Amino acid sequence: MEVAIISESSEDGSLNPAIPQLVSASSSLGGNCTIICPGGMGVEEAASISGVSKVISVEGDCFETYDCAAWSEAISPLIDGDLLLASSSLVGGEVASFIAAKMGMPIIQDATGIESGISVTRPIYSGKAIEKSKVSVPCAITVRANSFDVSPQGGDAEIVTVNQSSDVSVAVIKALSEAGEKLDVSEADIIISGGRGMGDPTNFSELFEIADLVGAAVGASRAAVDTWDEIPHSMQVGQTGKTVTPNLYIAVGISGAIQHLAGMRTSKYIVAINKDPEAPIFGVADYGIVASWEDALPVLKRELTALLSN
Ligand SMILES: Cc1cc2nc3c(=O)[nH]c(=O)nc-3n(C[C@H](O)[C@H](O)[C@H](O)COP(=O)(O)OP(=O)(O)OC[C@H]3O[C@@H](n4cnc5c(N)ncnc54)[C@H](O)[C@@H]3O)c2cc1C
Repeated sequence: MEVAIISESSEDGSLNPAIPQLVSASSSLGGNCTIICPGGMGVEEAASISGVSKVISVEGDCFETYDCAAWSEAISPLIDGDLLLASSSLVGGEVASFIAAKMGMPIIQDATGIESGISVTRPIYSGKAIEKSKVSVPCAITVRANSFDVSPQGGDAEIVTVNQSSDVSVAVIKALSEAGEKLDVSEADIIISGGRGMGDPTNFSELFEIADLVGAAVGASRAAVDTWDEIPHSMQVGQTGKTVTPNLYIAVGISGAIQHLAGMRTSKYIVAINKDPEAPIFGVADYGIVASWEDALPVLKRELTALLSN
C-alpha cells in the first residue's frame, strides 16, 4: 500500500515529533511510505527516519505563511497513494481535510489506532466511547499524538524537490545551486532533452542554445521524434531509444512516461521543467520546476551564462 504522510514542523523549524509516529503507523500496515514536506521544512530529518522510502520537498512562495487552501493546492498534485496520514494537530487536520475534499476521498479524524484492513479506532463523545470503523482506500486519516511508537532513525530515503514558486527565477536558481552541491555544472556531462511540450520543433533551438553554452547534448522524447520530422530518431532517449547516464539530465516539456524514464532515470542529477505539477517526471527528478519552458528556459540560460562567466 502506498502511504503519503503530510509533514509538519515544530516552531524551531525541526521536524514535529508526531511525524516519526505516523511513519510507524504506516509501517504497521506494511505501507510504502512517502513524506511530503511543505515548504521544505525538516526534509533531512524526515529522510533519516527508518521505514521512509521517499521524501518530497514541496517548495514555493505559498509556504511563506500558512494558508490552508494554498498549501493544499500545492501539495495535492504530489499525492499518489492509497492512504494519506497527517497528525491531528490544527494544521495537520485542516490541510488533510482540504486535500481529502479536493481528491474526493473520506477522512477520519483523531484516530488512536489503525490496523490493516483498514480498521480505525478513535474516541468519540468526548472520550466516553471508542468507535471502531472500517474504511476502504483511498482515504485520509489524522492520528492523535503518541498513538504509535516513534519510528527510529537510520533511514536514508531518496529526496526529491518540486518547486512551484510563481517567480520561476527562484526555482531555477535553487535548482542550479542544489545541482552545484552534487556536481560541477561547468564541467558536468549534461543532456538537455525536449518533449512534445516544446510545442513545435523550431522551439528546440532554445534547447540547442543552452546546450551550446554548457557543451551539452540535446535529446528528445519519443513523442517529439515521432511527431516532428525535424527531430531525428537518433535523439530519442528511452526504452526504444538511447539509454543515457549523464551527470545532469534536464527534461523539458516531458511527461515522464515509464518508457522515457527507462532511458534516463540513472542520471546522477535530474532537473525537470513541466507546467503540470502532476507530471510523473517530478517523481524521479531530484529538482522539479513547475513552470512553462517559455518562462523557465530564458532564466536558465541567463543563470548558466552568469555561472560560467564566474
Ligand atoms: C513500446 C513503447 C516504447 C516506447 N519508448 C519510448 C522511448 O524510448 N522514449 C520515450 O520518450 N518514449 C517512449 N515511448 C512513448 C512514451 O510512452 C510516451 O508517450 C512519451 O515518452 C511521451 O513523450 P512526451 O513526454 O514528450 O509527451 P507528452 O506525454 O505529450 O507530455 C508532454 C508534457 O509536456 C508538458 N508541457 C506542455 N506544454 C508545456 C510547456 N509550455 N512548458 C512545460 N511543459 C509543458 C505537459 O504537461 C506534458 O507533461 C514508448 C512507448 C511504447 C508503447
